[in-house]
Amino acid sequence: MTKAFLINYDDCFGCHACEVACQMLHDLPVGQYGIKVECVGPWEYGTKKWQYDFVPVYTAQCTQCPERTSAGLLPSCVQHCEAQCLRYGDVDDLAAELDGQQKLILQVPPKPCSGAIA
Ligand code: SF4
Ligand code: SF4
Repeated sequence: MTKAFLINYDDCFGCHACEVACQMLHDLPVGQYGIKVECVGPWEYGTKKWQYDFVPVYTAQCTQCPERTSAGLLPSCVQHCEAQCLRYGDVDDLAAELDGQQKLILQVPPKPCSGAIA
């Protein structure tokens, strides 16, 4: 079964703890990421309407933490998100939770490339 991440970016407050947890576990150098939190906005698009979101994105350097998941643990980024806005599981199970209402992103990380972390 394909694994995926369900990202509730409505609850993400841009603390970057997920990035740091990944970098520390995998000993990544500065500027390298298994997950990267991007900021969209702020800009005003109407009267008292603002676009301003933090959106976590998994990268080609994400290995999905096999050293943890094989032991029954959550991926490090999921474990360390205090807002609990990252979920990991079977893609079909997570897809069933998309309701078209919340700010949710279902992402299957790209396959690790030659620059993937070990
Ligand atoms: S699943 Fe593991 S490797 Fe992927 S971003 Fe999260 S901590 Fe990094
Ligand atoms: S740890 Fe959670 S709240 Fe913090 S930036 Fe990452 S996804 Fe957002």
